[in-house]
Amino acid sequence: MASEQSWKKKYQQLLKEAEQQERQCREQRELLERMLIRTTVASEGQRPELDHLLSRLRAELRRKKLDAEAWCRLQEQIDRQIALLDGWPKQAPNEASERKPNGAVADDDGIDISDRDHRLLIARRVGQLLNQVLEQVTLEPDAEAKAKELQQTLLSSIDWSTLRTSLESVSELLIKAITRNQRELEAFLSRLNNRLETLREHFAQQSESNSSRKDDRATLDQEIRQEIELVSEDIQGSQDLDTLKQSVGQRLDQIANALSRFKDKENKRERLLAEQLESMQQKMAAMEASSEQMQVQIRRERARAMTDMLTQLPNREAWQERLHFEFSRWQRYEHPLTVAVLDIDLFKRINDTYGHKAGDRVLQLVARELQGRLRTTDFIARIGGEEFGLLLPETRMDEAVSVMNKLRGYVEKLPFHFGGNPVSITFSSGLAQFVAGDNQDKAFERADRALYRAKATGRNRVVAH
Ligand code: GH3
Ligand code: MG
Ligand code: MG
Repeated sequence: MASEQSWKKKYQQLLKEAEQQERQCREQRELLERMLIRTTVASEGQRPELDHLLSRLRAELRRKKLDAEAWCRLQEQIDRQIALLDGWPKQAPNEASERKPNGAVADDDGIDISDRDHRLLIARRVGQLLNQVLEQVTLEPDAEAKAKELQQTLLSSIDWSTLRTSLESVSELLIKAITRNQRELEAFLSRLNNRLETLREHFAQQSESNSSRKDDRATLDQEIRQEIELVSEDIQGSQDLDTLKQSVGQRLDQIANALSRFKDKENKRERLLAEQLESMQQKMAAMEASSEQMQVQIRRERARAMTDMLTQLPNREAWQERLHFEFSRWQRYEHPLTVAVLDIDLFKRINDTYGHKAGDRVLQLVARELQGRLRTTDFIARIGGEEFGLLLPETRMDEAVSVMNKLRGYVEKLPFHFGGNPVSITFSSGLAQFVAGDNQDKAFERADRALYRAKATGRNRVVAH
């Protein structure tokens, strides 16, 4: 009896402990669920596909029933989307995939998953770059619409065969944009050629009409002379005044007729020439207008060819041109001239941590800040990925160092925020002043070596050669 009592007690004790554990477990689970829901909400807004998966995850959590298989699938999809967000993706097998003998993962069309994710990333990047290209080039309206459509596909589709077709179409589109300018120039030259031909015809007609006038004049001369001779013969051979009067009158009529015929022809010629002149003037005016239009276009194309698409700063081409110009001025007047090379610090990390798009935005904002802080006589260009070249005329090295340090301070204070966290962007810079015997390459190389030292000695600093 006593032992029965003790077993009962023990059983009740165990039941109590089990209930307590279960309650604890439930509380912990609820706590974790709440945290997970909050985390998914905080992670939203990066990619629509990811947002959709996160909302499915929340729905699963609220169902309070664990479907292990569904959860695994969901988790793999989320992993893949996260991998697509920044940097290179981790290998993430999907539900339709199977292990290949060598351990790589393949999906339905036989492409490795990691390979496919790489391709997806590339397509997204091309989509972003296409946006920049579209801001720079003018396309015909239908090509422009097609480009926008392509961009949309590249940014959103996950179907590789659609993406592959779109990538192929991008290259076609770019070739079209380039050949369009060429075609326009060719069309202009052909119009010019046609108009010059009309001009040549006009002059030929004019000289023809001049020579026909000469012929007519000679005929008129001859006719008049002939009639006058005949009058004089009539006078000499005349027997009576009446016949003489009559024959002289006839001769004078002939002369008047010849003169009037000549005059008619002359009027006709003049009318024709006036008409031709009028049409010529119209053609010349049209030619001038189209040549002006062409000049504007050529100027615009040239400005584009000299501008960096992403930052809208002058590009490397423009840099070489300006460096040459400032160097020639320095040689002529020998006023101080300093060149600086500036490179954003640890920029790769920005790309890897927050994605290329964030990296692009940093480049744009830093470029705008630098451009806005410089004097109008200074010059800045984007000469490489995250590298800028500056030319500071009328500026000695010590002044240039202080200018660059001020810029460094401004850039460092730019309020960048990624994923809700403040991030400080810094740059390093190397400077060189032009000295006797220099050429543009030598000075630039000295500045580049100084930049290397700035990097090697801790970054976020300005080093003078
Ligand atoms: P350091 O301080 O030594 O300069 O380090 P870093 O990471 O800035 O230099 P590194 O040369 O290793 O990396 C430069 C990175 O800049 C690598 C490249 O992906 C990135 N980059 C170049 N051009 C662009 C661009 O147009 N957009 C973006 N987002 N990144 C770019
Ligand atoms: Mg760098
Ligand atoms: Mg660099």
